[in-house]
Amino acid sequence: MGPLILGHAHVTVTEALREAIADGTSFGAPTEREVEMAELVRQMAPSVQMLRMVNSGTEATLSAVRLARGATGRPKIVKMEGCYHGHGDSLLAKAGSGVATLGLPDSPGVTPATAADTLTVPYNDAVAAEVALAANPGQVAAIIVEPVAGNMGCVPPAEGYLARLRELATAHGALLIFDEVMTGFRVAPGGAQQLYGVRPDLTTFGKIIGGGLPVGAYGGRRDLMEQIAPSGPVYQAGTLSGNPLAMAAGLATLRILASRPEIYEHLEERSAMLAEGLLAAAAEAGVAATVNRVGSMMTLFFQPGPVTDYASAKRSDAARFARFFHAMLGLGHYLPPSQYECLFMSAAHSKADVAATIAAAKQAMEAVAAGR
Ligand code: PMP
Repeated sequence: MGPLILGHAHVTVTEALREAIADGTSFGAPTEREVEMAELVRQMAPSVQMLRMVNSGTEATLSAVRLARGATGRPKIVKMEGCYHGHGDSLLAKAGSGVATLGLPDSPGVTPATAADTLTVPYNDAVAAEVALAANPGQVAAIIVEPVAGNMGCVPPAEGYLARLRELATAHGALLIFDEVMTGFRVAPGGAQQLYGVRPDLTTFGKIIGGGLPVGAYGGRRDLMEQIAPSGPVYQAGTLSGNPLAMAAGLATLRILASRPEIYEHLEERSAMLAEGLLAAAAEAGVAATVNRVGSMMTLFFQPGPVTDYASAKRSDAARFARFFHAMLGLGHYLPPSQYECLFMSAAHSKADVAATIAAAKQAMEAVAAGR
């Protein structure tokens, strides 16, 4: 699912955890590591002028949405079909990830009143977003988007799409929230906002920021973040937020990423090698496939493509994906178990690992072609 960009049990991260555990594991108050973490995130992603730690990506997005509503005094949000922002009630409409995998339309347990405040539009369709904003004047608190979608499989933003969302949000008095739970610190040290040069008002983080421990965070413009309690009226709190162990693992991970840009070059090189190898394996076996990739996140879709949104992602052959997944598992390669998830390369994967994966994929594709 993407948190372990340095691989399992990285020695520096493990050592940082060992040190932190001896200092005590919970204080119910900020600790020095939390401050260091915020300063480092601000350096890596400068749109984040202030940061609040929470315990998961879900908490980050639902807190950011509450803040957007509190700051604008508006009730509605615009979200993109097939994007997943965790399991907060108002974000479950037309969600990707497990919701898409299990074929659930929207989740039982979300009240109609809550669902009514979420407007969903197709990904990569700025005109649809504009129409939704225009049809709800003065009502939309925020546009929330995965700047590279990862939860309908990997779907990159079309040229100019994110910049257009930025313009639309500003023109309509709504905030722009980038959900960088997946892309943060992965597609570039400063996330997708660095890669595409678009500055959101608020950003949510998860996964890598915790170095494998349960962490989420949200941050952005100072004037907005100051509206959160205790400095402002928008309430959000958490007993274990900024937990010292979680901060230690996350900080150790981010420090390595911030100080070693060559990691991103290696990730790019090996990811390109894997993408090419997977496509070649499919082609050799006569299996229709396309790969979408941004840096070290990618998806092999069982269809000719192009995959640009949720509707096109759903044209994939899920039965073929299932055969491929189980064949790969049988060969000792554990892939993300859904057509609607991303493969993530880590710095621990060697070229030999990638070559072995491609070799296995060749065999697995033969099983797919044979319908086994
Ligand atoms: N946002 C995005 C973009 C995600 O990919 C995820 C998790 N896959 C979440 C939010 C939710 O994060 P968590 O699972 O930590 O609650």
